[in-house]
This record gives sequence, C-alpha cells and structure tokens, in this order.
Amino acid sequence: MIKEIQEQILKLKKETNSAILAHSYQSEQICEIADYCGDSFALSQWAKNTPQENIILCGVKFMAETAKILSPKKRVFLPNKNAGCPMAEALDYDLVKHLKKAEPDRKIVAYINTTAKLKELADVCVTSSAAVKIVKAMPDEKLYFLPDSNLGDYVKKQCPEKDIKLIQGGCPVHASVTLDDFNKAKAEHPNALVLIHPECNPKLVELADYVGSTSGIMDYAIASSSKEFIIGTEISIVEHLQFKEMDIFNSQSNIKNNDKSGYGPKKYYALSKKITCPNMKLTTLVDVFNTLNDLDNAFEINISEEEIEKSEKCILKMLELGK
Ligand code: SF4
Repeated sequence: MIKEIQEQILKLKKETNSAILAHSYQSEQICEIADYCGDSFALSQWAKNTPQENIILCGVKFMAETAKILSPKKRVFLPNKNAGCPMAEALDYDLVKHLKKAEPDRKIVAYINTTAKLKELADVCVTSSAAVKIVKAMPDEKLYFLPDSNLGDYVKKQCPEKDIKLIQGGCPVHASVTLDDFNKAKAEHPNALVLIHPECNPKLVELADYVGSTSGIMDYAIASSSKEFIIGTEISIVEHLQFKEMDIFNSQSNIKNNDKSGYGPKKYYALSKKITCPNMKLTTLVDVFNTLNDLDNAFEINISEEEIEKSEKCILKMLELGK
C-alpha cells in the first residue's frame, strides 16, 4: 500500500513539474520519495536551484516560508497546513520591535527557525551549523540572539568577545531532555559517543562528545570510526542513520551474503524518545498525494513582494558573512 501511494506521488510529481523537499525530521517513507532531504536552510537553497516550478515542502511552516522568500517566483506548498513550529511562532513581533527600539545599536541575530514576519526585524539570520561562524564574522559587539536561548547560550560561550543578550524561548522538543535522561542513556550504552544538537539543555551540550546541527550529527556519525552513538536530536535521525547503515552494510562488496559475521555495523540509540517533534510528524504521504493531486486547492505559502524584500535581507546578510 505504501509503495503504491509512493508510486502515485512520483507520477504526479512529474506531471505537475514539482519537486518534493523533505526536512530530515520527516518519516523514512517521505524521505524516500523526496528529491532532497536535509536541514531547513539547505531545503530553501535546493528549492531555489531546482528547475521545477512547484515546491512541495514537507516540514514545518517557517521552512516553507524561507523557501518562498528565496524563490519568490515559484509556488511553495506545505502539505499539512497545521505543521507549525512552536519555537518559531512563539516570539511576539511587537516585543522584538520594542527591543530594537530600546537598544538600536544592539543587532538582532535570528535563528532561521523564525517566521517570515520576524525575519523582517532581524539584522542577520543564522543556522545552527553556521551560527558561531556568522556571529564571529559580525563587526558588531552588542547582539540579541533569538528565539532559541539554548542555541544562543552555546553561541555565547563560543564567542566570549561578544556582548550577547538571550531572549527566552526555545524548542520544546529538544529542551525536554534532562540530565537524568542523559545519564540513563550513557549507563545503558557506556561505549557510545553522545552527539547532540545545541537546541538541547546547555548542561547536556557541555557533556556531549560532539555538538552540531542535524546534518552535522549525521555526517559525524557516518564518518566516525566509532561503532555506537547516542543521538541527541529528533528521533527520526536515529532511524535515518540506521537505514543508511543498512545500505552501507548491504553494499559492502567484500562481504558475501552468507558471511557478514566479520562486519560490525554501527548502532544508533536515541538520547531520549521524548525528542519526537509532533509537528514534524503531522505530514503524511496522503497529505503529499492530496497536495500534488489538487495544487489549486492545496495550502500555498503566500508572502507579499514587500514582505519578501524585507525578510530576505537577513538571509542575504547570513550568506555574505558565511562566505
Ligand atoms: S523540532 Fe523543535 S524547532 Fe524543530 S520543528 Fe519541532 S518544535 Fe520546531
């Protein structure tokens, strides 16, 4: 049944000249039919560079908005209109406007996980993988970092030369993991390296063997010579890594089908099953099918030209500073 829906989606994708882009927190079933699966900013860059005129973005709303900002001429669709991000949507526009007015010389650094509206107020945008590099490259010393105070705390520690004020907010999913969860996972898998996302609690980030973005964690695990890993980010990454490991295992040309005993595949464990994002799990294959089957009645991201012009500035600044 799943294979049949996937085949129909791929047929519709071709007929409608669409590209399917999936965030890496989406299910394996969705990643399998995606043209590209990756981090949020990489998705918007992929959207910009792909020749297809319709973008089906399987993720949450701020990701689809960022894709629209970078590809204003394309139609961008979110297959499940309820897929939002509580962190991106929590911060009040007027509060940030007030902060800007209160200290005009303090620049606003906004994590990419913000709404298009909030990006209008930001001086520069950052991804979790490039946040430290971008902040270091900024000529300004006085900064606000929003909306993730855990990532902000990590950046602040890596950039002691800056005066950074954190605005309280964060990802409720990553922030839900406690030190007890960490200790329990370590006790169960004492030989495993802990790879963690900086959206997690700073106490855990300090204890981890590696700190990085989702794609950073995946790349690190795949390249590492270690055999066991505790993954401190959304639980789907454990599954994706395990699937990738099976692919590597099956493609080992020197391992005969009946003699794989000498090969020790890598093992991945979740730091905590609490790191499951309910918003990322809202999008289903049926949503993707329904979107492609009736684009004119699907949920399309609409942002005015004027808003795009304003919110694009902080993204362009990030690209300039990240060179
Ligand atoms: S994992 Fe956190 S930051 Fe990502 S979409 Fe879910 S709530 Fe938002």
